[in-house]
Amino acid sequence: MIMIAVKGYAAHSATLPLRPFDFERRDLRPKDVLIDILYCGICHSDLHLVRNEWGRSNYPMVPGHEIVGRVIKTGKNAKKFKKGDVAAVGCFVDSCRKCPNCKDGLQQYCTGGLVLTYNSYEKDGKTITQGGYSTKIVVDEDHVLKVPSKLPLEKVAPLLCAGITTYSPLRYWKIGKRHKVAVLGLGGLGHMAVKFASAFGANVTVLSGSPNKQRDAKSMGATDFALTSDAEKMKTLSNHFDFLIDTVSATHDFDFYLGLLRTNGVMICVGLPSGEEQLSPFNLVLGRRSIAGSLIGGLPETQEMLDYCGRRNIAADVEVIPIQQVNQAYDRMVKSDVRYRFVIDLASLK
Ligand SMILES: [Zn+2]
Ligand SMILES: [Zn+2]
Repeated sequence: MIMIAVKGYAAHSATLPLRPFDFERRDLRPKDVLIDILYCGICHSDLHLVRNEWGRSNYPMVPGHEIVGRVIKTGKNAKKFKKGDVAAVGCFVDSCRKCPNCKDGLQQYCTGGLVLTYNSYEKDGKTITQGGYSTKIVVDEDHVLKVPSKLPLEKVAPLLCAGITTYSPLRYWKIGKRHKVAVLGLGGLGHMAVKFASAFGANVTVLSGSPNKQRDAKSMGATDFALTSDAEKMKTLSNHFDFLIDTVSATHDFDFYLGLLRTNGVMICVGLPSGEEQLSPFNLVLGRRSIAGSLIGGLPETQEMLDYCGRRNIAADVEVIPIQQVNQAYDRMVKSDVRYRFVIDLASLK
């Protein structure tokens, strides 16, 4: 069987830095497309998985699920894409296509075996998927997204995870005009939450631990900014918000933030801390508050989000790096020292 040679960067254990790694991708099946990767965003989940913080990592692991590139070859039955098209791949590359969630376009909640873009098994149950910190990827075209033409491609890459992760819950809960929305954490996810929520007409307050992010928050559309360490200011925000979008991926105090919600308020978790959080039922019962979670988005909604971004000229704020700097980027990401997403320029690996 012919395989496609690919260059990438891989983690070989939870403690070693990522390093160059040559591997092979499958040859094209009839509905596959071969994508020459141009940019890949660095998501906080990459770091969790590389360092085995969720306890389910396989090595060697090529991370990356915020992929934008150009189609360079198509399988004989591919119809959606042709050679030369710009295409994008997000957090999953296949799904069962038969379960109720897949049929509803909610592939992210597939119960029949979702195939994640990396650190996951393909449908054969034995081939481990490898992600976008690499020169090329082969994906069934049904799981590939179209990219609107006007946006700079390096700024599009983070939309495939950070973008859809925040767009989807804002749409699901119909967040918009008249809503007071808090965005907790102004990182990769948080900055997209601010852009979308304000574009939808909500009144957005950023809650952040970094005083130097205040100006950025306002320029992204937030009307207010509160330093989480400013007890006086935080007190004025208790019982205040209709929704709180919690993007924090480190352990934090759920009870404190639930107290910021008004009656019927909803706290929506989109970050994935690796610890076990505690929660007092009192903060839910008093005020009929709820706490909810949301995972990325399905294929139709991800396409809708990309098209919306194209129309409204919304994209991520990025810092483009050559792949040789990926380990330094991880160290900086842990310190929240990035505005607001690192994106790898794969030209550095070709
Ligand atoms: Zn991600
Ligand atoms: Zn399914």
